[in-house]
Amino acid sequence: MKFIYFFLASTLWLQSQIPIPVQKLMKYYPQIKSYENGRLIFQDHSTILYDDGKSKSHKELLENADIEDMFKLAYSKGSISKTISRNNDPGRYRNEAFFRKIYGNSAKEVEKNLTEIIWCPKLVNQKIRVSKVNGLDKKLEAISKELDEHPELKKYLTNAGGTFNWRYISGTKRLSQHSFGASIDINVKFSHYWQWDNKSTNEDISLKYKNQIPQIIVDIFEKHGFIWGGKWYHYDTMHFEYRPELLEE
Ligand SMILES: [Zn+2]
Repeated sequence: MKFIYFFLASTLWLQSQIPIPVQKLMKYYPQIKSYENGRLIFQDHSTILYDDGKSKSHKELLENADIEDMFKLAYSKGSISKTISRNNDPGRYRNEAFFRKIYGNSAKEVEKNLTEIIWCPKLVNQKIRVSKVNGLDKKLEAISKELDEHPELKKYLTNAGGTFNWRYISGTKRLSQHSFGASIDINVKFSHYWQWDNKSTNEDISLKYKNQIPQIIVDIFEKHGFIWGGKWYHYDTMHFEYRPELLEE
């Protein structure tokens, strides 16, 4: 009996030593086995450093985020209540090595993990390919099912702009989150993207926020673990990506 108490106490103690962002990641990405000596340990025994200890500019964070940096900006669920402050792009600081480990390290590897689902069978009936890693396809199916009950939303949902596409973000050497089959763009026609509106890829220019996407679409995606690019200063209102770790309170 004493041994059990000791075991439980030490497990709790160990748990308390794991930074909260890592605990959030471990909840949704079972590929992470443990956290030791400041590193995430994966099931395949490879590791990723949690915190490189460097202070970084917005551009450096975009280009070279460590795991800790991914959580630097808080993502808030629900409707946007005030003007988004400059460079407040929660979710855009991504550690590419992490997502390569989760979804696949090349186009070929990612493709092996893709499956086809029918996007909004009643309203749209479009085949899309998404990752089945960590049940992502099931989450998107649940979103699709809920959206399908809203005929008034049809125009935003038709012609989904894309899910899987192994490519770099224009003007950068960073892989788009679409490379992993873990994101979806809804209809481009009713969307706004800061790069297109300003005909620029320069992160430093001042932007004027634009959006036409109804909040109910955002709410349904967020409920199932997807964040929305319309919450970024560098807005991308067609874009939703699976980042449940950022929605965890
Ligand atoms: Zn997108």
